[in-house]
Amino acid sequence: MVIKKLFLWHLKFFSDFKMKVKRGDKVLIIKGKDRGKTGKVLRVLKDSERVVIENVNLMKKAVRPNRKRQKGGLVEFPSPIAVSNVQIICPRCNKKTRVSSRLHEKKTSSKKNKHERICKKCKGVIN
Ligand SMILES: [Zn+2]
Repeated sequence: MVIKKLFLWHLKFFSDFKMKVKRGDKVLIIKGKDRGKTGKVLRVLKDSERVVIENVNLMKKAVRPNRKRQKGGLVEFPSPIAVSNVQIICPRCNKKTRVSSRLHEKKTSSKKNKHERICKKCKGVIN
């Protein structure tokens, strides 16, 4: 019984996680060397629970010159950080916030359940 409960909780946890951060969200970095910075989410890596954020956690990579880039040298690019290190900034109230998800449309034969994200501070819908 306990194991089954844990398993269900797990499922719930991950389905919630899926909804939290999306590409295009504005987020605040709350941990690490870039703490305090804000940026736009460029990519969400669901499997590793990481996100790539514009101008955050920049790494340098050496590139060789090629036809597109005449010069070789160091190129800066943002590398992924753990999703637990960021917090969403609500586009409505402009505060760092947590979101909860609410069922928006029930699934039909052709569509899956649709959720919408709710800002816990202003209760506005984020999307
Ligand atoms: Zn809000």
